[in-house]
Formats: sequence, structure tokens, C-alpha cells
Amino acid sequence: MTNTHAVRVRFAPSPTGYLHIGGARTVLFNWLVARKAGGTFVLRIEDTDRTRHVEDSVRKILDDLRWLGLTWDEGPEAGGEFGPYFQSKRLEIYNQHLRQLLESGDAYYALETPEELAALREKAKAEGRVFCYQRPDPIPTIAQGETARKEGKQVVVRFKMPGEEITVVDEILGEVTLAGDQLEDFVIQKGDGYPTYHFACVVDDALMKITHVLRGQEHLMNTPRHIALQRALGFDTPRYAHLPVIFNIDGSKMSKRDKERAIARGEKPPEIDVHDFRASGYLPEAVVNFIALLGWSPGDDRESFTIEELADAFDVKRIGKSNARFDREKLLSFNTDWAVRVTPQRLLEAFKDYLEVNESPMRQFEEAMLVHILECCKGFRTFSELINKTSFLYKADEEIECQPKAVKKVLVRKEGAGFAMLEYLLPKLQAQEDYSVEAMETFFGQACKEQDTKLGNVAQPVRVAITGTMISPPIFDSLAMLGKQRTVSRIKRCLNLREQ
Ligand code: GLU
Repeated sequence: MTNTHAVRVRFAPSPTGYLHIGGARTVLFNWLVARKAGGTFVLRIEDTDRTRHVEDSVRKILDDLRWLGLTWDEGPEAGGEFGPYFQSKRLEIYNQHLRQLLESGDAYYALETPEELAALREKAKAEGRVFCYQRPDPIPTIAQGETARKEGKQVVVRFKMPGEEITVVDEILGEVTLAGDQLEDFVIQKGDGYPTYHFACVVDDALMKITHVLRGQEHLMNTPRHIALQRALGFDTPRYAHLPVIFNIDGSKMSKRDKERAIARGEKPPEIDVHDFRASGYLPEAVVNFIALLGWSPGDDRESFTIEELADAFDVKRIGKSNARFDREKLLSFNTDWAVRVTPQRLLEAFKDYLEVNESPMRQFEEAMLVHILECCKGFRTFSELINKTSFLYKADEEIECQPKAVKKVLVRKEGAGFAMLEYLLPKLQAQEDYSVEAMETFFGQACKEQDTKLGNVAQPVRVAITGTMISPPIFDSLAMLGKQRTVSRIKRCLNLREQ
């Protein structure tokens, strides 16, 4: 599929919100086909459905694509010789082709009102039949259609399906044939004058010289319609590959609704859109690597790929037919690995992006502090996890609330041994000037010796006092990052708990 130099592929999102992770997999596969073949990757915005249009969605999608590193050769902002790349700016082009089909008799104005169609649907339902649009006989003339439009009627244009069987030759699924009577005449221009998805997509794929269409399997049943349209318009049929559907690990379909369901149950919504993964602190390197393996495999056990390595290894022939499973644990483990694999500079850049996206108070931190956090927390799974562990660094002292469980376990137990340890440490920490990591190490070593106890018994009470929890980065680093003043103040505040 990828051995010709004129390879042109496209991703054609409808701007209905953020980019779904399944959409990202579609973009990635197209992008990889283009890169591998030295071809062109086109981005086209399919914005002709005014009822589904979501404000600002295009900007969000472009942003998500850039974050993933999937840049486009032609499309919005990039330009290109086959533009415009927004379908809403191509209405004149669709109208020309529509006219051609009307004049050749391959399309006709259909005059039924939405109410009449709804009544026919109801009737079919009541009789236990599947509704199938019946071509009117005789079909309205062009003049009748135009008159009806002029009178303000919501007239649509339908394509006359040829009634013969149509075979889709799919690069993944093989030949899929649909009998001629399985497809009714479908709408190609809506009552509002806009083309339907089918029509605009077919016209644009041809005019933009798209050679290969890789898209989700949910579009498979659209393809016979597209082929029929291509034949009527005298267009070539591009090569098609319909990608396996992505399922949740429990076998349910992965959809945007998963989020709403979780929210209704009072749970944290799962990441579904690319932006969710970005906001949860995943690295695009890990996301790209992970989604590449949703339906594609390199043919051996190898799992770790940079995007360039993927472009080298990718082959449409190795895309499977069966559904892909979205294993979140696996993605977490990919992310953990990638956080170690990328350069410290790159990790810092990604961390800053995460902080910006979440408008985190840590955006104000000096770069050296961010570097220290990343360095001493190595092994973290996501930036969110890292932030949870280090939020004590930006909280005000009064905001540190010691978890009752931590107080009980670390401070109160053994007749208040933890509190006693804090009492012992407080004057020493007040006297200590140097709060560098090395100085803290020496300080705690000395304290262990004097108290004849292990580090845990000295460090854990301090950890609870400064963070309110039993989990933090290594104690020496935690104190070094927090500094003397806040350390001392928090220990004092914590000691007040004893009197309560
Ligand atoms: N706009 C369509 C969608 O978002 C594109 C489908 C296609 O690739 O043909 O599903």
C-alpha cells in the first residue's frame, strides 16, 4: 500500500469537540503511511453539519495534533494547492458537482417534507419493518425541485443508487460486498443547501487527489455509497483501509459517554479525548507509541517505538481485523518508561506544558525547582501523580492539613513518639542554616545517631508535618525544596495538634 511516491492521505475531522483518542489513532496511521512513503498528509475540516458544530473545536483539534507531533503538509494554516481545506468554504465546488449529477440524472430533488418522512418511518416501525426510502415515481424534475426551493421548502437532493452490488476492496478486511437492494437513495444535499458528509467527502477526496483512505471501521458501510458516487462522477476510487474499533478493556465500546457515566457515578472520568491525556500528565511520546499498537503490530515482540521508528516499521498489511483493547494499565506503564527515556530537557518541556494546561500554581516555580522535582521523583507514572506528591510545595502553611490516619499512625502511636521526635528536631532545624540536600542528609544522619534509631522514625514525623501525608519525594529533597522557614513553621503547627 505504501510503495508509491504520489501517496496522499488525509484526516478529515468534523469539529464537534476535542480530538477523540480513536481519531488520534486514525490520524497517526495516515500520518505514518505518508511518512513511510514520502507522501503527503492532508488535514481537511469537515464542517458542513451546522447542527453539530462546536465553537473553538478546530483550534482544539489542531492543538491536539500538534501536541501529538502529527503535523500536516496541507490544510488549515499550512495551506496547499488543493484548498480551501474547510468544507464550509467549498460550497461552490460541491454545487458544481451536484449540478452535474442532477443533469446526468444520477441525482434528483426529493420533495418529501421532514414531517412526511417521519410519518413514513413511524408507519414502518408500527408494522415492524425497517424503513427504507422509496424512490418516487416519477422522480421530480429539476424545475420542480428548484421551484419548491424558491417557495422556501426544505428540499433535499438524493443520489440515485444504481441498484447493483458494490464490492469494497479493503486493505485490511478484504472484499466486502453489499447487495444492490441494501442501499436506498441517500441525501447528498440537505435542505439547508449544505452537502452531506458522503457527498463532500467523495468530492474532496477526489479533488485533493487522495490515494489512500484509512478510517474507522464504523465508516465501512458508507464506503459502497462513496464508490457509487465516485463512479457517477467519473472519479477514481482511492484504496480503502478500515481500522479496527477500539474497545475498553472490559469489552465495552470506548466512547465519550464513558465520561458522563463516570461523573454520574461520582467517579473520576476516564481519559477519552487526546486533551484528557494531556491534562492528566501523559507524554505525547507514550500516547503515540501506545495508540500505534491499537490494531497494528510490528510482527515481533517489540513494543517501544519513537514516532520516527514507527514511520519506518509501519505497514498497513500488519493492521489486524479484530477489535483493539484500550489497556490503561499498559498505557501507564508506557508513560512511566517514556518519562525515563526522553531527555531531561524534553521532560521539563512536557512538564511545563502540563502545568500550563492545568493552570497549576507550579507554573510560577523557578525552572531549577521543576528540574529538582523531576529529578528526585524519577519513576513517576504521570505528571498528575507527581503533582499530587509535591503539592505541599505550593500550598500555604495553613493549607497543610494533616490526614488523621497519618497523625495517628506516625505521630500519636507509641505514646506520641512521633510528636516527641518533632519536639526534639524543631530547635535543631531552627538552628540549621544550610538546607541543601547534602546538608539535610548529614543532619538526619546525625539525628538518627543521637536518637539511636532508624531514618524512618526521624523522617516520617517530619514528612507528616510538612506535607500532611505519609507520601512525599525523598525527605532530604522535600526539605531542601521547601526551605527552612516553611519547614519550621509547619512543624510548629503540627505540634499544636498534640494539645488538641
Ligand atoms: N468527518 C468524518 C468523521 O469525522 C470523516 C470520515 C472519513 O474519514 O471519511 O468521521
